[in-house]
Amino acid sequence: MLEDKLSVRAKAMKRSEIRELLKLIARPGIISFAGGMPDPTLFPLDLVEEATTEVLRKEGETALQYGATEGDAGLREEIVRWHKEREGVEISLDQVMITTASQQGLDLVTKIFVDSGDGLVVGYPTYLGGLQAFNSYGAKLYGVSLDDKGMRTDILRDVLEEMKGLWEIPKFIYIVPDFQNPSGVTMTEERRKETLELARKYDTFILSDTPYRVLRYKGTSSSQFFALGEDMERVVSVFSFSKILFPGFRLGYVIAKREIIDKLVMAKQATDLCTPPFTQAIVRRIMQKDALTGHIEKLVSVYSKKLDAMLSALSKYMPELPGLSWTKPDGGLFLWLTLPKGMDTGRMFETAIANKVAYVVGSAFHHDGGQRNTMRLNFSYPGIEEIEEGIGLLAKVISEESRA
Ligand code: PMP
Repeated sequence: MLEDKLSVRAKAMKRSEIRELLKLIARPGIISFAGGMPDPTLFPLDLVEEATTEVLRKEGETALQYGATEGDAGLREEIVRWHKEREGVEISLDQVMITTASQQGLDLVTKIFVDSGDGLVVGYPTYLGGLQAFNSYGAKLYGVSLDDKGMRTDILRDVLEEMKGLWEIPKFIYIVPDFQNPSGVTMTEERRKETLELARKYDTFILSDTPYRVLRYKGTSSSQFFALGEDMERVVSVFSFSKILFPGFRLGYVIAKREIIDKLVMAKQATDLCTPPFTQAIVRRIMQKDALTGHIEKLVSVYSKKLDAMLSALSKYMPELPGLSWTKPDGGLFLWLTLPKGMDTGRMFETAIANKVAYVVGSAFHHDGGQRNTMRLNFSYPGIEEIEEGIGLLAKVISEESRA
């Protein structure tokens, strides 16, 4: 009965296979490389406590009231200052809209750009939550593989040409350019320029999603997409405080041209009127104290050690098998493991759980459920010792499975 009443959109929504698998991880004693969670022991509780008290004492009446849909003006000013000081890029206040974290940014951008049946280009693999947002609006997805320099622009060109032949110019190309979730790979400056050039040539946009950008442990950053062209040309960028502060406030923002921000504000009004002013005021105060930079330095120092621990454990324990390889990211929270062709990380999952180690099956990050011989490993959440032990357990599972 309910089925007759549901929208086409709701009917198409499926329970995520991954969420079902992740339930198994809650069992005690399992070392989990599965979640994408920050290390909670690093949450800056004192900073939050101090800023919260200040907000309640000094601006409680406005902070607990409804707020502007585009967000707290003072927080948006801090974001403008942040991008100027950290990256040397000038943006104006009306090019920033606060969102209820970046997942809402992805949803709203899709809402204003995509009609059911519209084409979008995504990484192959790409962020699972991006796929969920795009699928919920009925987008038709085209995947472009990556290598160690990020999305392959030669394949992107071929895909765009193929789509043009079918009159299916994509509304946008979705890219996680820095320490991509799930692969950990960062797109080079050259590829970014080529991608923007292709967006111009094929008259499409780039949706850049970069929650991990400042979590860099080695090397230097490439330019952000929006800084490469004139006046944010063809680029919409979503950002998040989830990984550089904590996810519990659900706070992020979008940077785009004013005309796009205007539409996003209208779309957001219908969704949640505004992101909680209270949490925005707390983060504004943390940023005004210049406390975010010091906090990020702490994260970088701890996570870089965890990444090194995972890379050395992989070299130490993984068996020599044809095609077995892993990425070596310069930042972020994840790396990507590819097993020999024919192996299936979905099939192997229960054995891994029985051996007390968990990961996310790589097929979840492919719009067509492909590449079943891959997996994503998170290194921010487990402790250093757990990383060493867990990779040892995982290597044993892989060795045994490869013989089976
Ligand atoms: N984009 C990417 C690439 C992510 O990895 C995540 C979360 N892991 C998000 C967006 C959503 O994060 P949030 O809504 O917490 O900002």
